[in-house]
Amino acid sequence: MKLPVNMDGFGRCISYLRISLTDHCNLRCLYCMPDRDQVFGPDEEILTAQEIQTVVSAAAQVGFNKIRLTGGEPTLRRDLVDIVRQIKAVDGIDEITMTTNGLLLRRFAEDLAAAGLGRVNIHVDTFNAAHAKNLMRLDNLEQVWAGIRAAEKAGLSPIKLNVVVALDHNDQDVAELARLTLEHPWHVRFIELMPIGADGSVGFSQSQFVPTRQTQQRIENELGALRPVENAGPSDESRNYKLPDSQGVVGFISPVSQPYCGTCNRMRLTADGKFHLCLLNDDEVDVKAAMRSGGGVDDVAQILLEAVRLKPTGHRLSEGIHTENRGMFQIGG
Ligand code: SAM
Ligand code: SF4
Repeated sequence: MKLPVNMDGFGRCISYLRISLTDHCNLRCLYCMPDRDQVFGPDEEILTAQEIQTVVSAAAQVGFNKIRLTGGEPTLRRDLVDIVRQIKAVDGIDEITMTTNGLLLRRFAEDLAAAGLGRVNIHVDTFNAAHAKNLMRLDNLEQVWAGIRAAEKAGLSPIKLNVVVALDHNDQDVAELARLTLEHPWHVRFIELMPIGADGSVGFSQSQFVPTRQTQQRIENELGALRPVENAGPSDESRNYKLPDSQGVVGFISPVSQPYCGTCNRMRLTADGKFHLCLLNDDEVDVKAAMRSGGGVDDVAQILLEAVRLKPTGHRLSEGIHTENRGMFQIGG
């Protein structure tokens, strides 16, 4: 039997490309980005819409079918709607999604849906105003609500809310967030804090880490037992549950306490044109230089296959090892 070309050295089929469109952001979440003095590279180092389309065409050629746009904050890219439209036109891409903090969604949701965006994950750690101000340095929660409503109206569903849980910042809010699934068909997903940029560069300590079992326990204590439901597929990193009589889903993403590296199907493209092989590992394969010296779709496809071949087996956090030099805002999450 012929093996798929996009199979890595550990038998995983890599078919999901997460593209960071920018490392700029209109928020400064404590665990992700320094609040000041962040030095950004020059704009010309960021991939153009045309280069992104070349990478997506190459990815489709070698078996990728799913694209997620991320950042930094992807809605800060002025050509975002054009990028979505161009990706939509690539044969073989079945799904385009985006991860955003939602602040600008009210303005763009309709146009993004019309251009071909399928759905959005909206990152909001709490709906408590004081906690949002502390953890996300976010002043205006109403803007996030407006973004959620706009996404719903535009049909970007199911809406998934991403919540990074941090001790003494929003761990006391998790049941209130899970409660939203009683009245809304949303997926509220609780993510374990990862030690990326968290120690050192952004000054947020991993001592704020809250394991999934603790978050789950807190939700069950307040709202009743969670019933496991089927995952979307083997590579779905979220373990999903329902509260009694809920419309939506409560999910747990546990990269630290229950790593899912064995079923990882992802490749990441940084805004400055590198394939980033794995979170918590700084190995990268440059693709921008090839495109800027005349390389086309076929050349990029070969570089992508090389990146797939080099993908490590997974992170080694349990051994206390990680070599990640970039911040999450630079990798895209
Ligand atoms: N700005 C967008 C947003 O916040 O959704 C997209 C980029 S952000 C880097 C992507 C995801 O990374 C967010 O959903 C956020 O929850 C997650 N994230 C950032 N830093 C993290 C950390 N140290 N540990 C776990 N998740 C993190
Ligand atoms: Fe910005 Fe997203 Fe990082 Fe928060 S998590 S600082 S919204 S890139």
